[in-house]
Amino acid sequence: MFYDSCSRFAEDLYPGRYSFAKCRELTEQADEMQNLAKENGSIFLAHYYTTPEFHELADKLGDSWALSQYARDIKAPRVYFIAVAFMGQTAKMITGDQSRIFIPDTPKVLGCSLVFGTDHIWIQNWRKDNPGGIIVAYINSDPYTKALTSYSNGYISTSRNTDKIIAHAVKNNPSRKVLVLPDKFLGIVMKKRAIQLLEKNGIKVNPDLIEIYDQPFNGYNACCYVHEKLGNDSILVAMTEHPDAELMIHPECGCSSFCLMQVEEGNIPHGKAFFLSTEQMIQRAIASPAKKFLVATEAGLIYALRTRLPDKTFIPVSANAHCDFMKGNTFEKLLRSLREDRLEIVICDNCPKCLDPLNPYEDDQVIHIPRRIAQSAKESIDKMLTIV
Ligand code: SF4
Repeated sequence: MFYDSCSRFAEDLYPGRYSFAKCRELTEQADEMQNLAKENGSIFLAHYYTTPEFHELADKLGDSWALSQYARDIKAPRVYFIAVAFMGQTAKMITGDQSRIFIPDTPKVLGCSLVFGTDHIWIQNWRKDNPGGIIVAYINSDPYTKALTSYSNGYISTSRNTDKIIAHAVKNNPSRKVLVLPDKFLGIVMKKRAIQLLEKNGIKVNPDLIEIYDQPFNGYNACCYVHEKLGNDSILVAMTEHPDAELMIHPECGCSSFCLMQVEEGNIPHGKAFFLSTEQMIQRAIASPAKKFLVATEAGLIYALRTRLPDKTFIPVSANAHCDFMKGNTFEKLLRSLREDRLEIVICDNCPKCLDPLNPYEDDQVIHIPRRIAQSAKESIDKMLTIV
């Protein structure tokens, strides 16, 4: 099941991992998991950044928001959300009680630098210092950050629409401060684009009213630690080595504002570089007449691109751009979760263990989200959906 595809498309991304023996073991585990899933009505949703075996196993592959929407619409009794914990939590908050949602390991293992790097106390203080200030929070954030966004009458955004959401927030609240979080690289690029959008519509903007969250916290730098490493130098080297390739850049990358400036100044020719969300990269690769692409994002997406479009060439700007949190998912853990019914995300009511919203209860069986947090978080997501 795995050997042909993994040895053909994944060898440079995961050197030595997909031996024949390893692939046979993965195939046996996949068979058992598919049988268990058939028996209890489970489906597997996997993020592009997981290892190739999950791409092969999954009923649906996607980015975090696409998978959450799929979970909401498919109404399966049980969903295994194979990504990082906050993504499964988002799916649970928008699906409510219609589906049971499980993840293969705890939120500590399936973490995210954007979640661990968010200083909630700082945000609470920002709200006190900026009465009426509005938060625009990227969907890649924890439930409590999403709830704080709702308390500020703010909005959730995705990497596809953050510019439009910022523009909407500024246009409808002209003299209020807008705080964009938790990814500073995405924030910088999207602020620039939002100002361009507004100015195109004749709306003059005071850039100081749009603040980008940039607080180092817990050893992280207000960004995705994987995309942070895709900096200016790695892009320049890759472009020099592959001058004929089209460039696809995720806006979370450390190089994104530099590349945007290069495009605006004409140093990168028009039509050569594109700033795209994960799903948009797939769509662009399908639609583009180009045959060769440089891809600046987590290396897991390269496998998805290569398997979907085997006649095109996809070169990672860095083959080492792997997210250790995403790679914390393994077949062994998923199998255990399936066999033992463990690690379910639940929405709890008046739970005495969840009085502190910063530390809701979790153990190796359940991960709680207090209902009041889930409801507020969902409100800020729903608000985004009314705009774009
Ligand atoms: S790739 Fe970055 S944003 Fe995505 S889960 Fe990993 S650390 Fe978080």
